[in-house]
Amino acid sequence: MKREDYYRWAERAARWGAEYLSTVENRPVRAQTAPGEIAAMLPWAPPELPEDMEAIFADFERIVPDGMTHWQHPRFFAYFPASAAPASMVAENLTAVMAAQCMLWQTSPAATEIETRMVDWMRQALGLPEGFQGVIQDTATAANLCAVLTMRERALNWRGIDAGMTGEKRLRIYASPETHSSIDKSIRIAGIGQRNLVKVLTDGSGALDPGALRTAIADDRAAGFLPAGVVLCIGGTSVGASDRLRPAIEVAREFDLYVHVDAAWAGSAMICPELRGLWEGVENADSIVFNPHKWLGAQFDCSIQFLADPEPQVRTLGIRPEYLETLGQSEITNYSEWTIPLGRRFRALKLWFLLRAHGLEDLRQRIRDHIAWSEEAAAAIASMDGFRLMTNCRLSLFTFQYAPDGEDADGATERLLRAVNDDGRIYLTHTIHEGRFVIRFQVGQFDCRREDVQMAVDVLRELAAGINPCARNER
Ligand SMILES: *Cc1c(COP(=O)(O)O)cnc(C)c1O
Repeated sequence: MKREDYYRWAERAARWGAEYLSTVENRPVRAQTAPGEIAAMLPWAPPELPEDMEAIFADFERIVPDGMTHWQHPRFFAYFPASAAPASMVAENLTAVMAAQCMLWQTSPAATEIETRMVDWMRQALGLPEGFQGVIQDTATAANLCAVLTMRERALNWRGIDAGMTGEKRLRIYASPETHSSIDKSIRIAGIGQRNLVKVLTDGSGALDPGALRTAIADDRAAGFLPAGVVLCIGGTSVGASDRLRPAIEVAREFDLYVHVDAAWAGSAMICPELRGLWEGVENADSIVFNPHKWLGAQFDCSIQFLADPEPQVRTLGIRPEYLETLGQSEITNYSEWTIPLGRRFRALKLWFLLRAHGLEDLRQRIRDHIAWSEEAAAAIASMDGFRLMTNCRLSLFTFQYAPDGEDADGATERLLRAVNDDGRIYLTHTIHEGRFVIRFQVGQFDCRREDVQMAVDVLRELAAGINPCARNER
């Protein structure tokens, strides 16, 4: 395909996309394909000669959409959302066309300067104090790793990046058991080791217990470990649990530990001032991550890490060989020095489009609606025969079990979940909470409507009757 043909094919792709978005709700939400089915439709070897774009596009239409799980389906209630407002999709198209590497200021000044401004717009939108700066990363996983590496190096006074960790005291990092698995992964690959991630006791709500944190740190110090940092969680992935930041950060400060807050999902809701009690005390954190690509509507990938002071992280990750020097410009911001990869996409553009096309008031209304509809669904499900709420709504996430009389609740709940996802009208996923198999239900897809949530409740009622042997006998 030649450059001159770009318009024709981009137009064709846009037409396909518009049709897809307007009809996606007629598709089953979760892909209904068996493992290997899609791979079997692809040739074993790459083509030696050019193929016609017509044929390529036809194969796309024939093979791909039916093999996808549809994250922009309005009845996607699984995992957490990966919402993509159409305005952010348009921005992503423009980013793709310019195809710039935005690693240094001079490799794309607009990308750097719009990123700086968008991070500050989001800082204001979330109600964080002035002084927080930040950077857009691909994922919260990457931001979590950057924060853990910074904790490590700050505790070692930056000896680790120079001499390595041999001969150093064993580092310790503290977190509640509700933190995401990407924290465990960060600890592993930062060379600290899983055993040195201390999961601190929580209270009944799943929040880390500050007294237990203090004891754990003091005991470790006395035993010759080197405590380095604390990772706190707002809106945990399993059931949405949150730590109480103010008392936990106060304990971390007693020991001069670096504090990172992972609010990957729940952070978006902090654009609503009335919800900010959830992360009361957040202004005392050193580092905060949230994903506009989850609940806010910025197309994946877009994760913002805020930093009270970027210096420790840039000192940990920044490296400037001569071939990356910008002659005569030592004062400019090179965001690649704040993160792990050198190459960077122009991710700020989709935030700019999103925030302007909707305005904060519309984005807040969507989040408020999602929470209200989730509460309605939780109440309706709690009142249905055989259903039991296992965790109440935390923002727009709750969990439940289906336990008809006399049946094993874990088994019945799992059977219901399979029936739901084979049916396809809605999509739900599960977690294990306090040893029980529970179904998670979150509302957050950008274009979800109240009737979509109501339909989900109806589908659950209908399919539960279908899998319940007692109900079958009555018929
Ligand atoms: C989703 C999630 C993550 C991982 O996010 P990615 O951007 O996919 O890496 C980390 N922490 C929490 C609390 C999450 O909800």
